[in-house]
Amino acid sequence: MIKNVLLDLDGVLTDFLTPALDKLNARYNKNITVEDYAKIGIFDIEQAYGISSRDFWITVETADFWSSLKPLPWAKELYQKLSKVVAPVTIASSPSKNPVCALQKTAWIKEHLGLENTNLMLGSRKYLMANPNNLLIDDYPKNIKKFQEHGGKTICVPSSWNTPDLTFEKVWNVIEEGLADIDRKEIRINPVVRDRHGGLSVQFDTKGKEF
Ligand SMILES: [Mg+2]
Repeated sequence: MIKNVLLDLDGVLTDFLTPALDKLNARYNKNITVEDYAKIGIFDIEQAYGISSRDFWITVETADFWSSLKPLPWAKELYQKLSKVVAPVTIASSPSKNPVCALQKTAWIKEHLGLENTNLMLGSRKYLMANPNNLLIDDYPKNIKKFQEHGGKTICVPSSWNTPDLTFEKVWNVIEEGLADIDRKEIRINPVVRDRHGGLSVQFDTKGKEF
């Protein structure tokens, strides 16, 4: 049973990629668009530009970078829908090394999602929150792998860094498939299970036979 959803911020609720590419293109005299980037499909943007992590952050992280990130058009809908159909949602986000980032992310969730800082877990070790009742929804395969290894449930959602023409539909389809997969695994472990909302239910296979 899923009791908590941990929802990633950058690339899932915020558009991190567009302003990062704008700044890098200006600095390094390139013209890589979001559409181009999805075809490259590398999570670490500095690798695509052949620069160091230090140069990446110096270029990208301008004074108001985090607070000026635009929400993806479906950010609020995604948050609300997950809260409604799965479980209470807590935002789980890795801050940069700059302390200002934590402050601006806190302000961002208030401004764009109406959330208080009690709804935010900031830290790069998301796997410390892994347990069988917690579901991590994230676009970073490394976070997903570690969370799974520590006993948590996960759904790796598509993001603009690896998916051309990202839409809410594309993201939600993956979440629905992920939830169905989690349910199937739980049924195999325990035929009479509490469903995601805590109600007791007996599960049937596709031919209508009780497990
Ligand atoms: Mg992310």
